[in-house]
Amino acid sequence: MDSLTDVKRWFSKSNAINLAKELHVKGKKVFGLVSWSIPEEIVYAADVLPFRLFGNSYFIEKAHMYLPSWCCSYARSCLEEALNERFKWLDGVVASKLEDTCIALFYLLRHIMKPKFTYLLQVPVIKSEKGKEYFIKEIMRFEKVMEDFIGRTIFDEDLRRAIRVYNENRRLLKMIYEMRGKGHLPLRSAEVLDIVTSSMLIPKDEHSKLIKDLLDSVNKMRRREESGIEEKVRLHISGTEVLDPEVLQIIEDCGAVIVSDDLNTGTIYFWSEVDEKEDPYEALAEQYLLRGAPNILVTRQLSRGVDERIEYMRSLIEEFNAEGVIFLIDRGCEVLGHAYPHLRDNLRKLNIPSLRLDLDYPISREHYVTRVRAFIEMVRGKHV
Ligand code: SF4
Repeated sequence: MDSLTDVKRWFSKSNAINLAKELHVKGKKVFGLVSWSIPEEIVYAADVLPFRLFGNSYFIEKAHMYLPSWCCSYARSCLEEALNERFKWLDGVVASKLEDTCIALFYLLRHIMKPKFTYLLQVPVIKSEKGKEYFIKEIMRFEKVMEDFIGRTIFDEDLRRAIRVYNENRRLLKMIYEMRGKGHLPLRSAEVLDIVTSSMLIPKDEHSKLIKDLLDSVNKMRRREESGIEEKVRLHISGTEVLDPEVLQIIEDCGAVIVSDDLNTGTIYFWSEVDEKEDPYEALAEQYLLRGAPNILVTRQLSRGVDERIEYMRSLIEEFNAEGVIFLIDRGCEVLGHAYPHLRDNLRKLNIPSLRLDLDYPISREHYVTRVRAFIEMVRGKHV
């Protein structure tokens, strides 16, 4: 990587997709993943590339034949891509059965793409020892089906290596967030989003090399670019999948700096590591069910999902000194649609101001600017 300007190119979604396609042409199997809650390490250990499915089609036409317009943008845009035959090259599709939208999307993709391999992972919704036991067996079942497909055994050492590779990538992504929070990363948050989403598209070891190159370039810069972070309002972003970095660009253009998030395309994907010392199946079940960033849908008690998420948000807000929260809510997201009022009310109790922006694609700048500016001024006013 010659300069920071290469960052945009290397980590851009289109570049990552091209790289995955090149690997496929060279003979590597590639599976499309519908959700972030799938223990990808199993796929990686089988020498198959886990490739998170994202839609790029913001003008939805064909998908409306199968999904209603009130369904979330993530599902509709993924389906549009499939109907436009842009996922035809993939060898398989894997989804988790955690929520109805992903289940519906999985069956539609299976019907339309007719991939050689499909698997719907059964993820328990209650965090408990019994749930963990069940999930360990389910991870092993998934591994067995993968082995039948690739025609070879996945050894424990393959899995342990995959866990190490994934953990290294998690640590590097975390480092990127920490540098950004301190104002030591001369990148906009839209570019940071590209870094995270590209990690879901290309082999993790190659992605880690790219991050190390990026960190080298940043460290070699004699004079760090002035980020002006001190004058900006520090914000935490909450939501699920953010498909278009433009919305983060708009928020930062209005005078804020994004310092943390609890997005499925952000910290929820990589914030905590899998225990490398434990039995690998147990460690994966622990991570994806019990220890990892809290999924609103998987809880210790059915009513506690929001509490766990609030605690996670609060700890990030504190760690990164965020002064306010912007919720980016896909207008069709049934998960956040249900959780949002509780999250907002709990933030109020903690005296943390928040703003809700309803996401719809394509992003319209004018639609958001006035509200974001007013919110930033309000947060700034709290401190004078
Ligand atoms: S979490 Fe929300 S945005 Fe993501 S797939 Fe489910 S319904 Fe769609």
